[in-house]
Amino acid sequence: MSNLGTAQLRRTMPTMLTTAAFLLAVAPGGIQKSYFGTTKDGKSVAAYTLTNAKGAKAKIITFGGIVTRLEMPDRDGKLGDVVLGLDQLGPYEGKTPYFGAIVGRYANRIAKGRFTLAGKTYKLAVNNGPNSLHGGIKAYDKRIWAATPSMTKAGPALKLTLRDLDGTEGYPGTVDLAVTYTLTNDNILRIVYDAKTTKATPINLTNHSYFNLKDAGASDVRGHLLHLYANRYTPVDSTLIPTGEIKSVSGTPYDFTTTKEIGLDMDAVGGYDINYVLEGGAKMHRAAGVVEPTTGRTLECWTDQPGVQLYTSFFLDGSIIGRHGIKYDQYHAFCLETQKFPDSPNQKGFPSCILLPKHPLHSVTEYRFGVAK
Ligand code: BGC
Repeated sequence: MSNLGTAQLRRTMPTMLTTAAFLLAVAPGGIQKSYFGTTKDGKSVAAYTLTNAKGAKAKIITFGGIVTRLEMPDRDGKLGDVVLGLDQLGPYEGKTPYFGAIVGRYANRIAKGRFTLAGKTYKLAVNNGPNSLHGGIKAYDKRIWAATPSMTKAGPALKLTLRDLDGTEGYPGTVDLAVTYTLTNDNILRIVYDAKTTKATPINLTNHSYFNLKDAGASDVRGHLLHLYANRYTPVDSTLIPTGEIKSVSGTPYDFTTTKEIGLDMDAVGGYDINYVLEGGAKMHRAAGVVEPTTGRTLECWTDQPGVQLYTSFFLDGSIIGRHGIKYDQYHAFCLETQKFPDSPNQKGFPSCILLPKHPLHSVTEYRFGVAK
């Protein structure tokens, strides 16, 4: 046995590192932790890159639980990013349109930023016209979550937890949250939401990934084919608050009950930003199916939630430059935000969104990727 001298070590190190890097690259999945950035108030943000047995990747940061990258194969097996995202923390701390984030305590809108529960009126931040949107000013998308990575049978996983104290952003009750992302070995991004509260509170949790199965946002998504498993939708007023009606999609531009290009009837409604009523009840059901014809990539969205917001990124305007220098323009992505119906706290005819101390929340949404035959 001989000890490696410094000079010899220097010569050998690159080979060892290359071998290590190679082993990492071919290893059947794993989790890699890295530094992502530091917030303006000095908190360190970590990134976890989950790689499954097939080589697909999800990069998730502790700030907002944001999925910053999601790499899935096309029909030739070539990996490509399928979400819009940024490689720096700065823009996420500013005013981003919730790219990839966990949204709560109440995703979507609450009219006039107020609701009444058990005789008491609660006031929330009004941050979207006259309404409250996506949980307020410093909501779940802007908080730092504690992370626990683990390799599970299904694939690499990341559990994120957060304590949301009573009164934060105006909501009642302290809520303990856990959001667990698993990148399964069959290319599903599974998101499990768990929450318990000390007092009755409205709650609506979602993930706000902006998908573009072709080129991660370089071109518009009007040519993607979409099927929605919803015969009805909840019409909205000019401030995007539901009118309370539940209407049939039949004969309207909202009808995706047979597969069609997202862009086919889009001009008639100026882009989609609307909640669909899913038919599957509280069991896991299919909400949407998407095919991108040029790359062959497909996405199915499954959930146990009663609704899904189809949002075709009307408000992107090219002012955000994303990864690879891509300009994120209008209609360059679509979101499938599984959810309770918007403004449920004020709408008697909608399914309840109230979480009670005795009944913790457990909910699952899956984004299942594949390729068209
Ligand atoms: C809303 C849009 C909003 C977007 C980004 C979606 O959930 O429905 O109206 O612009 O989120 O905030």
